Amino acid sequence: MSTRQEFLPYALPLIEEDDIAGVVDSLKSGWIAKGPKTMEFEKQFAEYVGAKYAVALNSCTAALHLGLLAAGIGAGDEVITTPMTFASSANVIIHAGAKPVLVDIDPLTMNMDPQKIEAKITSRTKGIIPVHVAGHPCPLDEIRAIAEKHGLFVLEDAAHAVYTKYKGQMIGSLGDATAFSFYATKNLVTGEGGMLTTNDEEVYNKVRVLSSHGMSRNAWNRYAQAGSWYYEILEPGYKDNMSDIMAGLGLSQLAKLERMQGIRRDIVDYYNAEFGSMPELEVPVELEYARHAWHLYIIKLNLDKLSIDRNRFIEELKAENIGTSVHFIPLHMHPYYRDTFGYKPGDFPAAESTFERIISLPLYPKMSWQDTRDVVEAVKRVVENNRK
Ligand SMILES: *Cc1c(COP(=O)(O)O)cnc(C)c1O
Repeated sequence: MSTRQEFLPYALPLIEEDDIAGVVDSLKSGWIAKGPKTMEFEKQFAEYVGAKYAVALNSCTAALHLGLLAAGIGAGDEVITTPMTFASSANVIIHAGAKPVLVDIDPLTMNMDPQKIEAKITSRTKGIIPVHVAGHPCPLDEIRAIAEKHGLFVLEDAAHAVYTKYKGQMIGSLGDATAFSFYATKNLVTGEGGMLTTNDEEVYNKVRVLSSHGMSRNAWNRYAQAGSWYYEILEPGYKDNMSDIMAGLGLSQLAKLERMQGIRRDIVDYYNAEFGSMPELEVPVELEYARHAWHLYIIKLNLDKLSIDRNRFIEELKAENIGTSVHFIPLHMHPYYRDTFGYKPGDFPAAESTFERIISLPLYPKMSWQDTRDVVEAVKRVVENNRK
């Protein structure tokens, strides 16, 4: 008998009546493209993270891409990032015409290891994209010190880090620019969607213009009563802006983010209490400088204490009707990155050995207590059946 009858997905968004009302309100307003709701969402999000400026976009990928362009990064440049991330953190470097350069991770947090950055800096290096994996902040003081010494732009990939704090300060208020994701599985959702925050007026203006065809004024300024038909194309921009349908959802999600984060925290406390003393498992850490956003709960298997590997562990959890995922397959193991840059096994040993051990368990505010208990029971059952 499986632990439960019905399959439990590893991630689901929390969509409630207020979210539905927010979207319906946008639809009824007659303004469904980027307009007043998107601008309100930008204002509230900037206030929430403590940044001077925010630009709402159609994805975090767009925020990362436009952030690089705003920093003036292009052909011939190199940008440092981590192998332990989603492909878009590095794809955007290639879209900008530059070369991604990978730095191995600290296996404890799975974030970029700042001690390994300087060895990868060359005269072509222009920026660093640190990724706050799972919602645990990177050691930003160390990263920023290196960036300042070498004149590098720091563009944080905060796809997991809405709500994360570093030394008491909100992620989004610290970097040269920060990119957030509101994709369906993330802590705050707009379906697809993202946001770039910055304190730099020049970066803000560039990203705003690039996100809407390179146009000098956006549609709201042109079509609203006080607007004017005239615009100028300042550069060949992109079409990366958010819509008011999405922003209707973003506003309702932001209003209840604290409550949703409280539920994540309760689930994490329960998981830690149940798994923390099991020698076969290593539970995720929250270092003293961190307020973790708990986007993901990633356990590491102590493979020397188990008779099965990670893939088999996942199969057995699936047989118990528990969904999981793996964050991430290191970038250099993907065919494109492997073949284009000639990476070999062993190039990023910490990322590779961590990858062999990790499983992301279900963690989201839509989970019931029964769901949470089922995850614990299923994991314990798989461990007990496969102890060495
Ligand atoms: C989800 C994710 C992204 C991409 O976000 P989109 O909004 O889907 O573009 C980028 N980086 C990381 C680390 C992610 O997990």
